[in-house]
Amino acid sequence: MRRASSSSQRVSLTPELRELLDEHPQVSGGIAHYPFPSNRRHRYENLDRFPDGSVVVGDAIASFNPIYGRGMSVAALEALVLHHTLASDDRGNLAVRFSERAEKVVDIAWLMAVGADFAFPETTGPKPRGTDLFGRYLSRLTRKARTDGELREALFRVIMMEVPPTTLLRPGVAWKVLRPTRTGTRPDHHSSAEGLSRNTSQVRDSGTPDDR
Ligand SMILES: Cc1cc2nc3c(=O)[nH]c(=O)nc-3n(C[C@H](O)[C@H](O)[C@H](O)COP(=O)(O)OP(=O)(O)OC[C@H]3O[C@@H](n4cnc5c(N)ncnc54)[C@H](O)[C@@H]3O)c2cc1C
Repeated sequence: MRRASSSSQRVSLTPELRELLDEHPQVSGGIAHYPFPSNRRHRYENLDRFPDGSVVVGDAIASFNPIYGRGMSVAALEALVLHHTLASDDRGNLAVRFSERAEKVVDIAWLMAVGADFAFPETTGPKPRGTDLFGRYLSRLTRKARTDGELREALFRVIMMEVPPTTLLRPGVAWKVLRPTRTGTRPDHHSSAEGLSRNTSQVRDSGTPDDR
């Protein structure tokens, strides 16, 4: 992000923002950091045995870099999955039945978070197949969504986890994204909706919780 200095004319600021910057000194100390800079996932669905009648939910399955604002959405969708799992006639093997269904919810958030992280060369960890290609597509979509309400709506519905990312590949959306622009501006991978500025990141997919 370009630094906004009150002595610089490179960035145009509103009078209110300029006043705030003039009044408040910039600080670099005393900033609280999020304790671990990573997306972290434990695959309970891969365990052979699990205590009967117990389930793991929320951040304990997968926690996401808070910058993506995914954790509560995932936890809420998992609660819904648990509701449906408990409501089914099958009473046995709750953990396995729940984990297998929850996996599908986590997969979507995981792919989006990990995909956005891999826009940064510093990111380490297993990269899901197709990450770079979809990242470039998403960057192009994000750039065009600035001036296209339909694309913006499609993108936000995915970000809010109302619909899966595959909806962004529907022909009507794909055509708008892929058709050449008159300006011929190069897609900027770092401008993806989720590729917000960050220094380093790690992707940790534990395989099973016992692999650590
Ligand atoms: C800075 C930050 C910003 C975030 N912003 C967003 C956002 O904008 N949108 C979004 O969707 N998500 C966001 N998240 C993620 C979201 O907060 C979490 O994904 C969500 O709270 C996970 O819910 P949970 O119930 O799994 O865990 P938690 O909310 O962490 O709940 C776990 C609870 O268990 C308690 N506990 C822990 N150990 C024990 C113990 N031994 N005995 C008894 N109790 C215990 C804890 O005190 C806590 O109350 C953010 C996270 C952070 C850190």
